[in-house]
Amino acid sequence: MTVTDQTSTERPGTPAFVDGFLVSSSPVTGEEVGRVPVSDAAGVGTAVEAARAAAVWWAGLGYAGRRARLLRWRATITQRLDEITDLMHRENGKPTDDAMLELLLVVHHIDWAAKKASKVLGPRRVASGMLASNIAATLEYAPLGVIGVIGPWNYPAFTPMGSIAYALAAGNAVVFKPSEYTPLVGQWLVDTFAEIVPEHPVLTSVHGGGETGAALTTAGVDKIAFTGSTATGKKIMAAAAATLTPVLIECGGKDPLLVDADADLDAAADAAVWGGMSNGGQTCIGIERVYVHEAVYEPFLAKLTAVAQSVTPGEAADAHYGPATMPSQLDVIRRHVDDALARGGKAVVGGAESVSGPFVSPVVLTDVPEDAAAVQEETFGPTLTVSKVKDMDEAVERANGTPYGLGAAVFSKRRGVELARRIRSGMTAVNSVVSFAGVASLPFGGVGDSGFGRIHGEDGLREFARPKAIARQRFGLPMAIYSFTRTDKTNALLTRTMRSLYGRGARSR
Ligand code: NAD
Repeated sequence: MTVTDQTSTERPGTPAFVDGFLVSSSPVTGEEVGRVPVSDAAGVGTAVEAARAAAVWWAGLGYAGRRARLLRWRATITQRLDEITDLMHRENGKPTDDAMLELLLVVHHIDWAAKKASKVLGPRRVASGMLASNIAATLEYAPLGVIGVIGPWNYPAFTPMGSIAYALAAGNAVVFKPSEYTPLVGQWLVDTFAEIVPEHPVLTSVHGGGETGAALTTAGVDKIAFTGSTATGKKIMAAAAATLTPVLIECGGKDPLLVDADADLDAAADAAVWGGMSNGGQTCIGIERVYVHEAVYEPFLAKLTAVAQSVTPGEAADAHYGPATMPSQLDVIRRHVDDALARGGKAVVGGAESVSGPFVSPVVLTDVPEDAAAVQEETFGPTLTVSKVKDMDEAVERANGTPYGLGAAVFSKRRGVELARRIRSGMTAVNSVVSFAGVASLPFGGVGDSGFGRIHGEDGLREFARPKAIARQRFGLPMAIYSFTRTDKTNALLTRTMRSLYGRGARSR
């Protein structure tokens, strides 16, 4: 059945809602891939309630019990790789090799979170300090309870897993609302987990469009972990404020790549094209802008152009990249390219005709004004703007000149790390692109319009737990401090101690 028959005004791949079901279709052919029942607000409430009971059981398993089950889930996903990459190809459109790469990151993060949770979150003694030498101080992290995870479609497995794996490893239950463009991939992840953990609904799904996500936000979950657009992130934060529900907000980006005068230009050109075009440019940490030192601008542009011209999208499972998964994004890409060209920009690869959908060919633009939409707004297509800068100070200033701050890349032999530090972003790759996403111990998240909070790494585990401080008195002191029986002598002693410990250094030399 072709879903577009029922929604004739929509383009292939647009989700359809039919008789209480969400019908997922191919973004290339419009053929139905499968369907899932839609959850209304009452259904979402029931799922959260069931998850609350499951969370108690899951937390009670302890780190070792959870680790064993998460590692079995990891192995199951790996063993059934062909099944899930085929589903991702049919539902999202991406080539199966790209789906494999995405799943490699998925299992890598499940593995890391499962193995590290105990060390990062488990009880540990901390120093109690001079004022509390009779106190044994313990810090540990307790699970929050039920986490609502709301995901996008561009990396339908990797992106939500940054929250799901870490939340589960920390001892929480999860109710997952996959994107309405990729519900079947989300359901596959939930179903494989249920095969390993059949006892309780520790990881469950609710399906639907924005209304289902909105219902999950206000359903009494202990935290919402959202990944998607900045506009939706703001709505979620506003809705969550009513119940003081904490939020993790992972939004879009406009990532820059900087090319210094001493950079390896072949490597930088290859990285810029892959960073900008892979997954059809539908990558939150995809490269969208390139700033090149004037000393190497011409040779770099020649190399970049040659590489970009060799890249072609297609339906084949081994194409360089697939279609625009969300058909409405084509209008955004077209607007950015048209506006850039109308404002004096030049297309050195492709042009307005490249955006004919569902497959968008690579577009490389030069001489685009810095305030154009193609430089300031997230394009989410296989496009790059390339700008010449007089030095790397200008490159950093322009790189930092958008409201976003998610990822970035720097190519420089001598100054890579120094430049990386100066870029306003959550993550910066030096002499590579996107590499931080595959380092499970590195936190991942943005600043500004790219959101806040962190997935991955130790910070990603702590994001789904609350610190619990325990101060156990080992013996009583001869003088009472926290008591109405405190004496003048004790006060005098405390004053002297305070002056001696903290009273020096007021005057600067
Ligand atoms: P989107 O904001 O349209 O939708 C994301 C999710 O939010 C979907 O599941 C959707 O149904 C749900 N939703 C929509 N309205 C809602 C509401 N009012 N309340 C609750 N939920 C609601 O985003 P998208 O188009 O699916 O994803 C693309 C965006 O995601 C891009 O901007 C991309 O950069 C970003 N992204 C960010 C990261 C990251 O880690 N920072 C990763 C991947 C994608």
